[in-house]
Amino acid sequence: MPPQKILISGAGIAGSVTAYWLGLAGFNVTVVERNPELRTAGQGIDMGGAAVEIIKKMGLEEIIRAKTTGELGLSFVDENDKAFATFDVGDKNTDIGFTSDIEIMRGDLCNIFYTAANTFPNVTFLFNTSITSLHQSPSSVTITTSTGKEETYDMLIAADGFRSATRRLILNNPNSEAFIQSQNCWVAYFSIPREPQDHPRSRGYNAIGGRFIMIRPNDEKLSSGYLIVSKDEPSLRAVQRAGMQAQKAVLAELFADAGWEAMRVIREMKDTEDFYLQDVARIELGAQGWSKGRCAMVGDAAYCSFTGTGTTLAILGGYMLAGEILQRPEEPEVAFRAYEDKLAGYVKKAQSAPKGGPQLFVPQTRLGVWLIRTALWLVYRSGITRWIGGYKMPKFDLPDYPFDARVE
Ligand SMILES: Cc1cc2nc3c(=O)[nH]c(=O)nc-3n(C[C@H](O)[C@H](O)[C@H](O)COP(=O)(O)OP(=O)(O)OC[C@H]3O[C@@H](n4cnc5c(N)ncnc54)[C@H](O)[C@@H]3O)c2cc1C
Repeated sequence: MPPQKILISGAGIAGSVTAYWLGLAGFNVTVVERNPELRTAGQGIDMGGAAVEIIKKMGLEEIIRAKTTGELGLSFVDENDKAFATFDVGDKNTDIGFTSDIEIMRGDLCNIFYTAANTFPNVTFLFNTSITSLHQSPSSVTITTSTGKEETYDMLIAADGFRSATRRLILNNPNSEAFIQSQNCWVAYFSIPREPQDHPRSRGYNAIGGRFIMIRPNDEKLSSGYLIVSKDEPSLRAVQRAGMQAQKAVLAELFADAGWEAMRVIREMKDTEDFYLQDVARIELGAQGWSKGRCAMVGDAAYCSFTGTGTTLAILGGYMLAGEILQRPEEPEVAFRAYEDKLAGYVKKAQSAPKGGPQLFVPQTRLGVWLIRTALWLVYRSGITRWIGGYKMPKFDLPDYPFDARVE
């Protein structure tokens, strides 16, 4: 029997990692990506726990570590740029810090995983392509694409991020956005020209009104700017689907009186091309589960997290999903169930956040800002970083799958 044909929607982290492992196992894999080229926007992302074991198995640890941003930690600063609490790099397996030992630009990580998956002759990436319709039978999945082609596959995997259009088609639910639990928090990420004070630690600044500004090291020329708004902000919701310019204009107004380096960040944001505004959210598919028939979901499409664990979950999810498909290629429904059964407990822990959510760390009032600064100072002075809680990666026993015993 020829190897199964598997279609993946989305060439982000989850899509390329899944394609890599399925490709290694000898499946016939096609990845469709809506963007005309690899979507490399985004700033620093990190990984920990089992994801590090997986990149070792992929032989990519060295190349990934060589591309890390070199961030040494995070200092919280006041209006005058005076640091009152500094937290250095923490190993997410053993301790809690705000900075993981693998911090890498999202575009670099996307490129590394894409390049690794693309080396397999049995893996094909199609850009400028998305799925427009889907029909499942007990033995196959037939889709049409935005290029007008109709194709039949044995399985379909949605890896197209937290607003996944493929998830909507799989669940046949126009209201699949109901699974998105918005945290009433917005983050804009973008690159700005580097200044000497931007390196080697990130700096974070709380302003009243639920506003937080962060500047992080990126490379010799660039730093990463973050503008965070932690409240349901109607002016941002109104431009959620509008273009970048409209979003930048709203943010410039919201941060104009924030103090610290706000004016610098706003000024540089205006010219940046790699701007990305994200509605911070968690996806929990609950009783629906992460699959339906011959279709499954992976990464943010299935279990988007806002605790800084999204990339770890995307890498781990891709590995586990491919591994379980390899165990039962003829029975996708059984394989998808095993993937979910083995991973759901871990995902739940990784998604769990301290009560109070982002608003706890980014308060609204002057008193709230004073309290969070005092709490951070106390944690810093006492050294009990564990007190911050919620960001520790749970332990996961990674199964070994026989990926290199290739499917004939
Ligand atoms: C542009 C961008 C910038 C980001 N920046 C940051 C950041 O700075 N910090 C951070 O912590 N997280 C960021 N994220 C989110 C982070 O990448 C994910 O939370 C995490 O890595 C899990 O990745 P994923 O592969 O599941 O989803 P994603 O990384 O979102 O990848 C999804 C992929 O699917 C593609 N896609 C979307 N819709 C379709 C469709 N209909 N058909 C085909 N392809 C489609 C997208 O173009 C993308 O390539 C960003 C995501 C994106 C898309």
